[in-house]
Amino acid sequence: MKRRGLACSAVALLAASALASGAAAASNPEADALIKQAFNMAEPRFEPAFERNCSTDAPFPLANGRGGPAVPAKLFDNFYYVGRTDVGAWLLKTSDGLVVIDTLYTPEEAEKTIIAGIRKLGFDPAQIKLVLITHGHTDHAGGWKYFNQKGIKVMLGEVDWGLLGGAPGPDNILRDGQVLKVGDTSITAVFTPGHTPGTFTYLFPVFERGQKHMAALTGGVGPRGGIPVHQGSIAGMEHLLELGRGVGLDVLFLPHEAFEDPMGMQAILDAPTRKPGTPNTFILGQDRLQNYGRMLETCWKARIALLQASRGEVGRGAGAPAP
Ligand SMILES: [Zn+2]
Repeated sequence: MKRRGLACSAVALLAASALASGAAAASNPEADALIKQAFNMAEPRFEPAFERNCSTDAPFPLANGRGGPAVPAKLFDNFYYVGRTDVGAWLLKTSDGLVVIDTLYTPEEAEKTIIAGIRKLGFDPAQIKLVLITHGHTDHAGGWKYFNQKGIKVMLGEVDWGLLGGAPGPDNILRDGQVLKVGDTSITAVFTPGHTPGTFTYLFPVFERGQKHMAALTGGVGPRGGIPVHQGSIAGMEHLLELGRGVGLDVLFLPHEAFEDPMGMQAILDAPTRKPGTPNTFILGQDRLQNYGRMLETCWKARIALLQASRGEVGRGAGAPAP
């Protein structure tokens, strides 16, 4: 029984973590109850997310940085993948040009993977009108200078610009709730801190054979830090889910599909040969998406209960690249 084994292993991880920090390992009934609650909300597809978020010491994926360019793929009528097998980069087509979301590790890689991917998909990179970055970690933001040097506007949250040496100008700084209009397409930037202090999630419409859906591309869902960071993540997720209910949010993209939603990564790899009429893996439906968000919140509440006992932090000194 995989699911049963998973629950046990997560509880064991948590107990081991409490032990390591000198807290009473066997007695955190509040955390245990929340972990069980989250486990019951975790449909099989999101077990990897449960495992990572319901533990204070889940390993950061060592495979990060060891992937390679994925075959560029059309995921929706207006949305494409131009990233790597271990970290995402995405392309949104509008009536007035292209929007790139996330820039991979370096300017060279932005050119070699994202720009080459855009050409392979049949688009002209000269049509890129805007670049949005989810958060300031190198694997997502390191390529930003390539676009900036071409005169393309690059936007990111203010605190995370600090991780990159500062914003080029005030217009490059995102505000919570800001609506970015490119041609016929509106993209809403939602402040969802936790993974980094300046992480943003983007909401935008995608079309599946002409039918409109609403998508969220989150910027790293695993909080890294102590109790206030986790409280901030919960507030950000509440905000996102509430906005999502208002706009019918039913599609989810994650910055590292391979680690956080392996079925999503498989769908990207399979997309070039996807047969017309087969279901689109990324359309979760509103209820499943809300349930996924609530599962994460429940895991983070469990972490808070554990951190209260240990006075610890999550994600420091992990020794692996930060995804
Ligand atoms: Zn990250």
